[in-house]
Order: sequence, then structure tokens, then C-alpha cells
Amino acid sequence: TTAVAGIPFARAAADPHGIALRHDDRDLDNATFAADVQRLAAHFGSLGVAPGDTVAVMLPNRPEIVTTMFAAWYRGSAMTPINPALTDDEVRYQLEDSSSAVLVGDDRGRGLAESLGIAWVDVSLVHSTGQDAASEVERDEEALAQGSDFALIIYTSGTTGKPKGVLLDHDNLDSMSRQLIEHFALGAEDRSLLVLPLFHVNGLVASVLSPLRVGAEVVVGPRFSPETFWDVVQAHRPTYFSAVPTIYAVLEARTVGEVDTSSLRFVICGAAPMPAELITRFEERFGVPVVEGYGLSEGSVASTINPITGPRKPGTVGIALRGQEVAVVSPEGEPVPVGERGEVVIRGANVMRGYLGRPEETARVVRDGWLHSGDVGVLDEEGYLRIVDRIKDMIIRGGENIYPKEIEECLYRHPAVLQAAVIGKPDPTLGEVPVAYVSTQPGMVVTEDELRGHCEAGLARFKVPAEFHVRDELPTNSVGKLVKGPLRAEQR
Ligand code: ATP
Repeated sequence: TTAVAGIPFARAAADPHGIALRHDDRDLDNATFAADVQRLAAHFGSLGVAPGDTVAVMLPNRPEIVTTMFAAWYRGSAMTPINPALTDDEVRYQLEDSSSAVLVGDDRGRGLAESLGIAWVDVSLVHSTGQDAASEVERDEEALAQGSDFALIIYTSGTTGKPKGVLLDHDNLDSMSRQLIEHFALGAEDRSLLVLPLFHVNGLVASVLSPLRVGAEVVVGPRFSPETFWDVVQAHRPTYFSAVPTIYAVLEARTVGEVDTSSLRFVICGAAPMPAELITRFEERFGVPVVEGYGLSEGSVASTINPITGPRKPGTVGIALRGQEVAVVSPEGEPVPVGERGEVVIRGANVMRGYLGRPEETARVVRDGWLHSGDVGVLDEEGYLRIVDRIKDMIIRGGENIYPKEIEECLYRHPAVLQAAVIGKPDPTLGEVPVAYVSTQPGMVVTEDELRGHCEAGLARFKVPAEFHVRDELPTNSVGKLVKGPLRAEQR
């Protein structure tokens, strides 16, 4: 297989008229894609972007982000994608922290780039208009980034402190995409539908890089909406997509009538806890296997995944991908026995190079090659991992450890509950007590007393939340993950 940076050129050589990226009825064929990558790389060069520099891109999901990424790699540079929903100050922080040499974006980006004195490229220049597309692509293999060259700088959402740039190199992406291709048996006949934002590894690696590497097409879908989602699936007939639990919950709750899911081989769920109930309901409703996986940006996206053919175990996040070691360890770093709780640690070629410019934090998180996830997990006899919770989300009530996820799972079993989030509230005598927030399924109502009764029936007494709050919606971040920060802030 080709190096990751060489993907557009391998595609152009193998199948020039085949489609690489589809978006809004505009299809970008492989030959044009490769030519555009080269043209943009040359343009970066003329702006003074050098190998080893960083290219930033700030756009909503569009094929131009993918072209920019490969153009950066063709120039020997890294790419950092910026979430356009960030404030100006947050964008400036990322541009400066990553020492970006150029920003690709729209008018808003121009102002920000100019204020920092960095070069700017308008998104309209990224793709040729047809006339200037070269039919023959000559390339300079030497220029292609590879190995330990930096490939991506992905900023974690920063629920703890300032956002940190996770540094992934070409070896990281090479091993990660190989593992996903093998696990899902991806091939040229596949078609991926991109649902998640491209400023995270899930979208970039699972939905774009891996399928492009095997000659499959990528549909850069519109912004997710439950009203139009299945029309997009019917129009483009993808064989898979990757999404987060919130999206599955919303689809399950809001889809009316029959939908055609026959093109889908499987769908991937990850990034946050997926209630086992929801997997079962979704699979029954839509007839598509939901394959749950687990990982973090620091591990290039995925570390464990349920099999697509072998037995999937709902409630677990599957087994270690081939090429990675996943263990559960005590606070002293010793592996704990099967069935016992500890911190999930990961080792393999997918583990990040570090946090950009933060050696101490890197040393805290990656020790002896083991990436410390900050998640509490349990392995079973067959090596299936269950994520119990995040270490930092654990609630200690009068010395008793309580994992919010267990309470959330119980709440999800109530038919009126759409989403649930449990947090710790400071308590003068007990230290902390659990407090529950739920949103309800459309058209359903539930009282606090009903929720309390439901929890009392399903949980040990000390785990029953002290308060229940019913809301129209729970706060989510840009990827659609539930975020507990705003709820905690209410309680302080
Ligand atoms: P930040 O570090 O800025 O708060 P983040 O932790 O959400 O952001 P990501 O790398 O996007 O950063 O997410 C990784 C985390 O997501 C994991 O450490 C884990 O807590 C959680 N996670 C991922 N997949 C699953 C899953 N299948 N089940 C439960 N939790 C998951």
C-alpha cells in the first residue's frame, strides 16, 4: 500500500476517472483531486510555507479540507484543522500555539490571519474550476511527507485546561488507517459517508483517510440533521458511516416511517458511552449492525472495536485492534486481574508523538510507551473492554466510588429518557453526591419522582441521585458529545 501522503496520486494512477470526494452534487474525480493537491502545494510554497511548517484550515465540512490536508503533506508540512465554531480568541490561540504558517478559509479566516500576520488562502482557490486541471500528474516522491514527519495537530476540546495540540505523525496515521481497513475489511467498493466534523480524528481518519486509502469514495455529507439524514443515505448509498451516540439517539427517536438502509454494511459508534439499550433499539429499528469502538485522539482515534462479523458485545467497546496492546492497570501501573477496574492504557504505533510544546504533559500521559487514557475500564476473559467511566468524572460520595455512567445506563432504561448525564455536586457532609440531568423523548414527559422511583428500583441506595432535573436538551459539544462542564458549573 501507498504511504498515506501518496493516496491522491495512487488513486489518480489507478483510476483517474473514479470519484474521490462527493459533496453537494459536485464530484471530485481522482485525477482532478491529485492535480488540485499539487497545485495547492505549489501555491503554499509560493507563500513561503516550508517543509515542517503547519498549514491551518478553518471551514465547515467540505472536500477542500481534505485537499488542503494532502497539499500540506505534499509540501512536507503538517495540517491543523480548526473548528469554525470557535471564538476569534480561540482561533487565534490555535493558530499561534500551532505556529501555523498559512490559513485556508473563508472571509472570517482572512481577518484573523491578517491580524496575526500569517498567509491566507481563500477556499475558492483550493479546487480548480475545471479549465486549469492538469490531466497528467507528475510528482516528486521526495516531497511527500512520511514516517516521523508531523501529519496532524488535533486540538482536544479542552474540558480540562487550555486545548492541547495532539501531534500525530505519518507513522501514526499509517498504522491507524491500516488497522481500520483490516478490521472493517474496507475495499474500493465501499463508500463512506462523512457525518462527523473534520477537525477531529474520527472524521478525518475513520471516515476519510482509511476509505480513500483503499480506493473507496467519500461522501462529505451536509451538516447532520435528523430530518434529512436518511435522504442523504438514500441518495448516496454509503456502505458505512461513523457517528457519536447522540446522533444514534436522535435518529432512533426522530425517524418517522420506513427508511432504506440496505446500502449500509455496518455503522460505527464511538467517542462517548453508548447505552447498550440504544444499540439494541437502533439495530432492531434499522437492521444495521452498530459496531461500538473506543479510543482517543492521543491514540490516533481507535484502540478497541467490536468485530463486524464475530460476536459483538453491546455494553463493551470491543477488543484491541490488531497491532495495539490494551491493558487495565492499577494506580501503581500494575495490570489488574480480569474483571477488575483500573485505568485503560494503550501501546502501539498509533500512540501520538506528544502534545505540541508540552513535554511535561506528554510525559505524564505517555509513560514507557503506554498511553494513559484517564478512563476507568474492565477487561473480560475474552479481552472485551468495558468503559466504566472517566477517572475525572468519578463521584466520591462519603468515601464510596460512584461511576456516573452506571446511573446514566439505568436512566436510559426508562422509556421517556432520551439523554442522561450524571455529575457530582459538592455536599457539605458527604463530599459529593450524584445529581441527574435528563432530556426526554419527543412527546414524552416524566416527573422527578418517577425518575427517583426508577433509580431506586435499579440501583443501590447510595447511587440514587440526590436531585433530578428534566431539561429540553442537554449541552453537547461540536462533535455532539454530551458535555458535563456546563451542568457542573450550575451546581457550583
Ligand atoms: P478533552 O480531552 O478535550 O476533554 P475528549 O477527551 O473528548 O476531549 P477525545 O480524544 O475526542 O477527547 O475523546 C476521547 C475520550 O472519549 C476517551 O478518553 C473516552 O473518555 C471517551 N470515549 C471514546 N469512546 C468511547 C466509548 N465508546 N465509550 C465511552 N467513552 C468513550
